[in-house]
Amino acid sequence: MAAKEPSPQTVLERCSNCERETEHTVSLEIRTEGSNPETDHYSREPYRLTRCLGCGTRRSQRMNNA
Ligand SMILES: [Zn+2]
Repeated sequence: MAAKEPSPQTVLERCSNCERETEHTVSLEIRTEGSNPETDHYSREPYRLTRCLGCGTRRSQRMNNA
């Protein structure tokens, strides 16, 4: 039996640093953004944070920019 602990949720995504598809851990973060010049009120924006397991590069992407 493989004595490997269950890995966190990972996805295969292209890493611009590794220049290939690598496993990334994915997590979500809600960031409160204040003093938005457009809306002038606080908004909570969900971000998708990914971290390359190969090189450790982190990336954050705003979720709701459809
Ligand atoms: Zn990488």
